[in-house]
Amino acid sequence: MNPDTCARRREKLRAAVRRRGLDALLVSAAPNRYYLSGFELHDPQFNESAGRLVVCADGRDWLATDARYTDAAARIWDEDRIFIYKGDGVADLARLLRSCGLRVGFEADSVSHGFVRALRRAAPGLGLEAADGLVEELRVVKDSEEIAALQASFRLNHALLDRARDFLLPGRSEQEISWDIERYFRENGASELAFANIVATGPNAALPHAVPGTDRLGENGLVLLDIGCRVQDYCSDQTRTLWVGDAPTEEFQRALDLVQKAQKAAIAVLRPGLPMRDAYAAARRVFEDAGVEKRFTHGLGHGVGLETHEAPSLNPRRADLLRAGMVVTVEPGLYYPQWGGVRWEHTALITEDGATLF
Ligand code: ZN
Ligand code: ZN
Repeated sequence: MNPDTCARRREKLRAAVRRRGLDALLVSAAPNRYYLSGFELHDPQFNESAGRLVVCADGRDWLATDARYTDAAARIWDEDRIFIYKGDGVADLARLLRSCGLRVGFEADSVSHGFVRALRRAAPGLGLEAADGLVEELRVVKDSEEIAALQASFRLNHALLDRARDFLLPGRSEQEISWDIERYFRENGASELAFANIVATGPNAALPHAVPGTDRLGENGLVLLDIGCRVQDYCSDQTRTLWVGDAPTEEFQRALDLVQKAQKAAIAVLRPGLPMRDAYAAARRVFEDAGVEKRFTHGLGHGVGLETHEAPSLNPRRADLLRAGMVVTVEPGLYYPQWGGVRWEHTALITEDGATLF
């Protein structure tokens, strides 16, 4: 992560912090922290923080962490502005926040109630208020560096899908195929999977979030692959539903045709200024015309970036508008518990006058 880019992002955030009338924002969400500083993309586990940023209205930001990360922090951050917890991390953090001012925002969706309670107890005079979404509001529009990283990630994802038929052999289990996919990604430049592979055969494909198991591909059958890799820190996410063998059933073929038609219809309307629910509606209309809309059980798509699922969300409740630079998946699906399902997913970059696919 380029330090100048991070500094630029913090200045944008600082303007938002000031507009909110806050003296500082405590940034706890790992992808937000990384986006703003380049420090540790992941926390060790969900209830353990690698560190937090304090972005201050006065321009003097802090990276607060514990002694395990002293050297890692010094590689990317001004040493005079690194705050290492000495004893009780929460009490130390409370003191640091207090030194930044009286009104401090925090990311309520990314911290536990216990943490907030302890922070309030440790800093009685401090005005702590929930201030979610300030960093996400920046992250939702991708800059050129992010788009380049996304392109690299999707390039590898496409390369895997281009040779998916090599992995999809009758007799192989979902788990075996999943490992082939993971190994291919790792051996060809991915740092990790963006999310756990979905490899689902037959009726398992009716579960939108199926977990690969011991079921094996038959001589004739469908397999749904929903896969993503992380390259240059950025995630990719694509789904294909393929028929293995030479005799696809009529119901599979019909569902596949409808899903692809719905996807095309949605991609065709993507442009800046489009209400997000209208993208969903464009896909749903195709299903309604065919009388199968009840089989479309989820939203149309989501943002992709440092996280596989991030803002925005293309669902029927969102009236806010697409903007150039947003990156969204378009992944209609139809699900039939008796025989499986079909989902097809591409990811689009919203451009000045429409959208292009990764
Ligand atoms: Zn997916
Ligand atoms: Zn997706």
